[in-house]
Amino acid sequence: MKRLAILGSTGSIGTQALEVVSSHPDLFQVEVLSAHGNTDLLIAQALKYKPNAVVVTNEDKYEIVKKALESSHTKVFVGQAALMDVVRWDTVDVVVGAIVGFAGLHSIYAAVDAGKRVALANKETLVVAGDLVMKRAMETGASIIPVDSEHSAIFQCLVGEYHESIEKIILTASGGPFRGKKPNFLVNVKASHALQHPNWTMGAKITIDSATLMNKGLEMIEAKWLFGLQNEQIDVIVHPQSAIHSFVQFIDGSLKAQAGVPDMKLPIQYALAYPQRLTNSFKRFEFKDFATLSFEEPDYKTFRNLALAKDAMYKGGNTPCVLNAANEITVQAFLQNRVDFLEMSDIIEKTISKVSYIASPSFEDYEECDAEARKYAEELVKKSPLATH
Ligand code: NDP
Ligand code: MG
Repeated sequence: MKRLAILGSTGSIGTQALEVVSSHPDLFQVEVLSAHGNTDLLIAQALKYKPNAVVVTNEDKYEIVKKALESSHTKVFVGQAALMDVVRWDTVDVVVGAIVGFAGLHSIYAAVDAGKRVALANKETLVVAGDLVMKRAMETGASIIPVDSEHSAIFQCLVGEYHESIEKIILTASGGPFRGKKPNFLVNVKASHALQHPNWTMGAKITIDSATLMNKGLEMIEAKWLFGLQNEQIDVIVHPQSAIHSFVQFIDGSLKAQAGVPDMKLPIQYALAYPQRLTNSFKRFEFKDFATLSFEEPDYKTFRNLALAKDAMYKGGNTPCVLNAANEITVQAFLQNRVDFLEMSDIIEKTISKVSYIASPSFEDYEECDAEARKYAEELVKKSPLATH
């Protein structure tokens, strides 16, 4: 029986992780749940799964949850510090990192520091501080099993292989809803268009990142740290059907791929049960539904966020942290119709040029760079013609 702390249990990944738990009650038990603002769902989850504790990170929401769970045996804690405490508990075997954005970094780092197994969906943690997180995991014996589908695919392809045998990895990208479109089209797209992803249903932030291809850029950086690769060993190919979740190319020229229907429950279940594979009733791959599998080069010129992220990976240091912070601000602003689609890249690029470069940042440096980049990007958002209307 594995006891889980699911951080961000009210989100797209969090709720799917709970579905996996429900289908294997003999193997998984919920010890901790956390949410930020969605108190109704958190309360319902707590009543159903009866965790030992829940953490509400949004302090304004604490009283509501506390009152609702008064007569249950579930303890209610509040704030980031509480989240960092509960992941260290002896009664937690696996921490599911499903908070979105930089907000997930501290609790994941605490779990790694405590030597836990982490089923990691929150890619921003590795984008921002992958060097420090992986180094600490080596020291404490924490294992980080990816939930991100591409990284799960690569992880699965690497089981039984030597690290020296990897020539490169090739991350597949669906291309998002605007694949093939050009700037004259993109300048007019609204959040409601960008939120229509062709193959996956996900939280709003990652869905916008998929439309700008920033998501694939973040995944390149995530892969670099997760698999200990050189920048040159990381490639991207657009594969609109999302049937192949990624490839590893070995030094003998052989390619391994992992394929399946696009369903995040599969990589979630894999990360929770690894090294075991569990039976399930998920939809099976039907070859008749995928008569054609196609591949094309990404359009780095139009989807500048991908180019900016790749560039940030090569620059290293605090650049990915700054890129991530500016991206979080611009995505939020785009969702609120305060910047247009193309301006997002302009703001990220300007923010990167503004924040001083640090080659080997400390954890505190990352915190400061994140705050500085957010402030600067927010100022640029305010200057957008959309925001001033
Ligand atoms: P969602 O937006 O659906 O969920 C985010 C979760 O994080 C919610 O539980 C939310 O709480 C919580 N949260 C939001 N802000 C804060 C905060 N400031 N402090 C603490 N908790 C917070 O996101 P997804 O599930 O889509 O994504 C989660 C992570 O997984 C992201 O990093 C994403 O990149 C990654 N991922 C997601 C995939 C997907 O299919 N969705 C695929 C691959 C990776 P509440 O709702 O209660 O406010
Ligand atoms: Mg992914």
